[in-house]
Amino acid sequence: MDLGIAGKTAIVCASSKGLGRACAESLAAAGVTLIINGRSAETLEKTAEELRAAYDAKVTAVAADITTEAGRTAVLAACEAPDILVNNAGGPPTGDFREWDQQIWNDAVNANMLTPIFLIQATIDSMIERGFGRIINITSGSVKNPIPTLGLSNGARAGLTGFVAGLARDVARHGITINNLLPGPFETERLQGNIAENAERQGKTFEEARGARLQTNPTRRFGRPEEFGAFCAFMASQHTGYMTGQNILVDGGAYPGTL
Ligand code: NAP
Repeated sequence: MDLGIAGKTAIVCASSKGLGRACAESLAAAGVTLIINGRSAETLEKTAEELRAAYDAKVTAVAADITTEAGRTAVLAACEAPDILVNNAGGPPTGDFREWDQQIWNDAVNANMLTPIFLIQATIDSMIERGFGRIINITSGSVKNPIPTLGLSNGARAGLTGFVAGLARDVARHGITINNLLPGPFETERLQGNIAENAERQGKTFEEARGARLQTNPTRRFGRPEEFGAFCAFMASQHTGYMTGQNILVDGGAYPGTL
C-alpha cells in the first residue's frame, strides 16, 4: 500500500532506540524526511546513519532531552513546521506510590503529559495553515489496562489522553488527526528494564519474571518493535484522515475487555 506521505516531514521524538526508532524506520521506508531525537548523541547518530543507509532517507539528528524547553527548542529549530509529529519520551519508573514525592510526579507529568502538549502547541497552527497534519502520541496500554506498579505512567498518560480527546475534535476540520498508540509489552530495553525491576522486587530471576510476564499475554510473546512502527506509519498516512481522537491498543490482546 502506498501510504501517500513520501516527501512529507516528520519529527519523531525519542527515536534513537525502541518504539520511537521503529516508528522512524517505517516512516523512512514510506519516503518521509525525518528529524530524529534522543539524548545520547552517539546512539542517535548511529541510528541516523543506519536509516540513511537502509532507506536513502533524509535524516536530521537532534541530540537533546525532549522533556526540557531547551531540548524542544533545538528539535523545533531543525523543523518548525512538520507534517507529522510522533510524540514519545522515556517512561517513568515503576514502584510503590507511597514512595513518590512531588518531584517524581512532576517529572512523570512533564515527560508523559506536558512535553507532548507543548510540542503539539508549537506545531499545530502550521498544520492548520497547510490543511494537513498527523499527530501520533506513543502512550501505553496502561492507560486502558492500568499496571499497579506503573502508577506514574497510568496517571500522567491519562492526563494527555484526556487533553487530546478534546483537541482532536477541535482541529479535525483542518485535515489534522491526533491519535494515541497504546503499546502493550514490546521487546525493547525499556521492557527488559521493567522486567528486571519486577524480578528484583519479587525475588525472582530475570528469566523467571520474563517467563511469567510472557504467560500473561494471549500471544505468549512480546511485540516486535517493527510491528509497532508499521502501525505508526499507517496512522501517519493519507488513509487515516477520518480517524481521530482514538486510542489504539497494540498489545497482543492483553486488554481483556470486549470493547
Ligand atoms: P526504550 O527502548 O528505552 O527507548 C527509549 C528511547 O527514547 C531511546 O531512544 C532513548 O534514547 C529515548 N529517550 C528517552 N528519554 C528521552 C528524553 N528525555 N529525550 C529524548 N529522548 C529520550 O523505550 P521504549 O520501550 O521504546 O518505550 C518508549 C515509550 O513507550 C516509553 O514512554 C515507554 O514507557 C512506553 N511504553 C513502552 C512499552 C514497551 O513494552 N516497550 C509498553 C508501554 C509503554 P536516550 O536514552 O539516548 O535519550
